[in-house]
Amino acid sequence: MTISRRDFLKIGGASCIVAGAGAALAGCSPAGGEAEAPLAETGEAALVGYAPVNFTDEVDILIIGSGYAGLAAAMAPALAGKKIIIAEKQAQIGGDSATSCCFMFAAGTELQQAAGNPMTVDEYWETIKEKQTAGWEQYDWFAEWVKGKTYANTHFVDSAINDFGAKFQEPCTEAELPRLFGSVILPGDGIGSGGPNILQPIAAKLGELGVETRCGLRATALIKDPEGAVIGCRFEDATSGKVTDIKAAATVLATGGFADNGEMVMEYLPEWANYGQMVHGCIGEGHKLAEAAGAQMVGMDSSFTYCNLMGDIPNCTTWGYWTPIVLVLPNGKRFIEEAQSHDAAQAAV
Ligand SMILES: Cc1cc2nc3c(=O)[nH]c(=O)nc-3n(C[C@H](O)[C@H](O)[C@H](O)COP(=O)(O)OP(=O)(O)OC[C@H]3O[C@@H](n4cnc5c(N)ncnc54)[C@H](O)[C@@H]3O)c2cc1C
Repeated sequence: MTISRRDFLKIGGASCIVAGAGAALAGCSPAGGEAEAPLAETGEAALVGYAPVNFTDEVDILIIGSGYAGLAAAMAPALAGKKIIIAEKQAQIGGDSATSCCFMFAAGTELQQAAGNPMTVDEYWETIKEKQTAGWEQYDWFAEWVKGKTYANTHFVDSAINDFGAKFQEPCTEAELPRLFGSVILPGDGIGSGGPNILQPIAAKLGELGVETRCGLRATALIKDPEGAVIGCRFEDATSGKVTDIKAAATVLATGGFADNGEMVMEYLPEWANYGQMVHGCIGEGHKLAEAAGAQMVGMDSSFTYCNLMGDIPNCTTWGYWTPIVLVLPNGKRFIEEAQSHDAAQAAV
């Protein structure tokens, strides 16, 4: 624990709000202030589960979720010596990222250039920017965001290899992957091998750099100061229910998607509600945490989102990137809906 008693009193004495993903906003200050007064103090009622904020740790960056988004958010600050905690609700790190096919889009990486593809990320961006940004003009931040994402992918791969020991395959040649050869990178042992080749080496190196990863901690509420700034997060231990509050200069929500949350799918993507999902508990907790803390959600429906609908067996679907395929079981029956997926679909059609 790094908080001095003086700091603790200062934080504990100031009013703050726990902006829960559930329904309740619980005041946390004995002093009241702008925050709602704790019900318990009125002597009239008590909020079930109420606990005053009690920061046990203070860090520069608190990252919630340990998939690629969470680990990537930790990489540069960890190299810069920042104090970081990654909190993960599951018993192990990785989320969906751990079992993803890991067919990654990145262009202009050092690996691709060393393999004889001279295209830089600047050149790549010039070739895709019109297609990538057309149709999103109503969001004035979109073009900058999608550009940033493109460059971030390149930087991620370079840093993952150079600083974190991740292993990627020799990039595909044009003959092997005609349409996408300049912009696709695969993990060391091919599709589906991102866990051992990318995720685990990054996590291990983050540990060496002093990043603390705590599994079994589920974020339940962002904590705000009276001015409304997020100053940390409340967690519940997944097994014991024990509450832990962590203070942070910056809090990163990297909790994955919401495909496993039936209510959210019905609300935002009802046309998808009857498709099965191969995900591991993506229930939109980060979205809910942010919303409860006052964030506005935009672009949640499929008219905005580019939805990459996988077939039933994602690894098989991904093979379709390479070559026209029709997949059959030994009994001769097809076991993948190629019509939902990429090049395989076009070939099958
Ligand atoms: C089978 C499959 C194959 C795929 N193949 C590809 C592919 O080839 N190429 C591609 O680009 N994409 C692919 N995807 C999609 C890609 O894997 C995901 O988009 C990506 O992994 C998401 O990363 P993430 O870090 O945002 O989320 P995740 O990897 O899901 O990580 C989120 C983490 O946050 C944790 N978490 C959630 N809520 C809380 C909370 N309240 N408190 C604490 N922790 C919390 C979760 O447990 C999880 O570990 C595939 C997905 C699947 C399921």
